[in-house]
Amino acid sequence: MLEANDPKLTSWLPIPQDSDFPIQNLPFGIFKTRYLSPVAGVALGNTVIDLVYLHEHGFLDGLNLPAGVFNQPQLNNFFGLGRPAIRAVRNRISQLMRSGNDEMDAASREIALVPMAETRMMLPVSVPDYTDFYSSIEHATNVGTMFRDPQNALLPNWKHLPVGYHGRASSIVVSGTALHRPKGQIKPPDNPVPVYCPTQKLDFELEVAFVSCKNSELGKPVALRDAEECIAGLVLFNDWSARDIQQWEYVPLGPFLGKNFGSTMSPWVITLDALEPFRVAGPEQVPHVLPYLAFEGARNFDIRLEVLLETPGGANNEISRSNFKYLYWNMAQQLAHHTVNGCNIRVGDVFASGTISGPSPGSYGSLLELTWNGQRPLHLSNGELRTFLQDGDTIKFKGWAEAAGVRIGFGPCEGKVLPAL
Ligand code: MN
Repeated sequence: MLEANDPKLTSWLPIPQDSDFPIQNLPFGIFKTRYLSPVAGVALGNTVIDLVYLHEHGFLDGLNLPAGVFNQPQLNNFFGLGRPAIRAVRNRISQLMRSGNDEMDAASREIALVPMAETRMMLPVSVPDYTDFYSSIEHATNVGTMFRDPQNALLPNWKHLPVGYHGRASSIVVSGTALHRPKGQIKPPDNPVPVYCPTQKLDFELEVAFVSCKNSELGKPVALRDAEECIAGLVLFNDWSARDIQQWEYVPLGPFLGKNFGSTMSPWVITLDALEPFRVAGPEQVPHVLPYLAFEGARNFDIRLEVLLETPGGANNEISRSNFKYLYWNMAQQLAHHTVNGCNIRVGDVFASGTISGPSPGSYGSLLELTWNGQRPLHLSNGELRTFLQDGDTIKFKGWAEAAGVRIGFGPCEGKVLPAL
């Protein structure tokens, strides 16, 4: 066990019992305040620890960090140092903040510790490229059943490779950013030609994404055994989708404008190290995969996920409960497959899982599935019905792993739907 993950560790800083950010978590993000331009920080309880202050005042001495590595509006340069450096900084913060440690005097604590309520979180990385996979067998089966043939819901390639597509990095936004309802070409079933109008089928997709901490060489695949060394950590990810635009445009090249109008990312990057205690085996893969996708050990992570829908009419309902562990294809396989042709990855690249649906209807990760393409509306607590999202609706994701009284949470991932422009 990594020392920083020890469930017995406590901090001298008071941390609320139900916090997403106990001393065993220590995720990295970019924050700003009224007085401070965006810089790197670590979350602990209701506090953001200013890494620039710690670095400039000698608290991170001995870690061989480049000058100014935290004094930047994104974590790319820090993550680019690789997992050993990320681990060393997390270990050092764990030590500094641990009960009994008095290295930081009152003045240092006053300056380095910023109340979270006084901060605004930014996108943690500048994202060079974004890829979205399709790795939940339950989700792929539901979609195949709905739009194709229930007897052959999965296409022939699905169990042989992690299906994915290249998404759009420019429209990834941080949690809390509202999005306008997109407009586009829609082909009404009873119309011979398409119309241009706001989407009538705005949806969310419950996903978890990993952030790369590696620049790989063009032409050189990342072997599966090296893949996790390329992962700085995980975030929650909402791949907002306009189902009617998607349905008309996707043949034959796949998702395009039905997806690229916006994706919401949670601001704190939860390190793979912090999630290490939550490794679990994934679903059995039959038929056997090709050797480059073969793996050993537990490669999935037990991360509980929840979706809440808040409406202007006053409903605030949990509408889905899923788990990252359900994914058929794991992150190491996704990365090995992504690069097997020599495609290179860059620091800050985002690789999203695809919609994470579980086996039961209450665990489906999209409204498309929860309402079965609008056929079975959701009944909300205040009497409202929903098939797809309406203007003013807010979608909130929660994610956390929990064991031995330690909760490794992700913080908020939410976005509100504004009317079409
Ligand atoms: Mn997706």
